[in-house]
Amino acid sequence: MAFPITFNPTLATLPVYQPGRPIEEVARELGIPAADVIKLASNENPLGPSPLALAAVQKMLPQAHLYPDGNAFHLKQKLADQLGVTPSHLILGNGSNEIIEFVGHSVMAPGVDVVVSQYCFAIYPIIARMAGANLITVPARAYGHDLRAMLRAITPATRVVFVANPNNPTGTVAPREQVVELVNGVPDHVLLVMDEAYIEFLDDAVDLLPLLRNNVRPNLVLMRTFSKIYGLAGFRCGYGIGHPEVIKTWEKVRQPFNINSLAQAAAHAALDDREHLQRTRHNNREGLALFEKTLRELGLEFVPTPTNFIMIKVGDGQRVFGELQKRGVIVRPMGGYQLPEFIRISIGTPAENRRCLDALRAIVGK
Ligand SMILES: *Cc1c(COP(=O)(O)O)cnc(C)c1O
Repeated sequence: MAFPITFNPTLATLPVYQPGRPIEEVARELGIPAADVIKLASNENPLGPSPLALAAVQKMLPQAHLYPDGNAFHLKQKLADQLGVTPSHLILGNGSNEIIEFVGHSVMAPGVDVVVSQYCFAIYPIIARMAGANLITVPARAYGHDLRAMLRAITPATRVVFVANPNNPTGTVAPREQVVELVNGVPDHVLLVMDEAYIEFLDDAVDLLPLLRNNVRPNLVLMRTFSKIYGLAGFRCGYGIGHPEVIKTWEKVRQPFNINSLAQAAAHAALDDREHLQRTRHNNREGLALFEKTLRELGLEFVPTPTNFIMIKVGDGQRVFGELQKRGVIVRPMGGYQLPEFIRISIGTPAENRRCLDALRAIVGK
């Protein structure tokens, strides 16, 4: 008998997002202790959360019977101070993934064009298709976004352009002059969403905040997250920075208490932990250098990146992913991104990096 419920037709061919595999799940499958498995699959901070964040969460626990501050006053205030914007430029999301949903709810509909790049972050197409919007995928250039071609792809029906800079999964960074060209060239009727999930790892990032401080680009929004450099992925907290009119509209489409009180406390404290941030940057720089050196020795091609992950050409990505997993190392196969020859590995602690690279060496046999 056919299933009796009629689902929205846009959902029929919608894929389920495939996240990095959890340590516990892989350990269960291999029949080994979870402590023997390492995960370098989701670009998490290998040093863990900021100690200041953990202390703040402990302090917040006895308040868990109360609803969180739905407006996240203290967190928004601190973010606004650090970014040099006002709280009216800010909205928080349950991870920046939720900000992508706000984009969907506010400007996507059937008949609307959404422009993305080949090899873009998987959630943009999912949200676009969920909304029944028309997805325009612009071919990548050397694994990165071709921003000039993306500009040319804009039509009168285009409402959104998504650009992750740096991009995940490829780790590429768009050239500064092309970012400037893009920001200046996107027509006023098109929302330009710049996803800056990894911007804190860059030494020379293009700073788009001045354009938001003065409200001179009402169609520009930035997305950032506490999941990556701040090490708070489990708390689910990200934020959007945009014109107050955009933010006001997004406030209408979010859940009233989308950021729980522990996440608010953690994020607030993490913003003060400069030391944790510096240690994370340092660990990442050293780890990346070791990966690059070892990959050259192994004769494996990779896409250069300043981020906390690296995409590596291994031939049969699914096979190497499986072989690494057998050795207790979880990475990400890239077949779902139409990059079947690649795997993506997040930079870990020095010990994790060595273990991962030793396993990779054993597999590729050099
Ligand atoms: C990780 C990531 C995000 C955000 O993740 P959240 O945990 O939802 O904040 C957003 N964009 C890109 C490109 C990412 O890699």
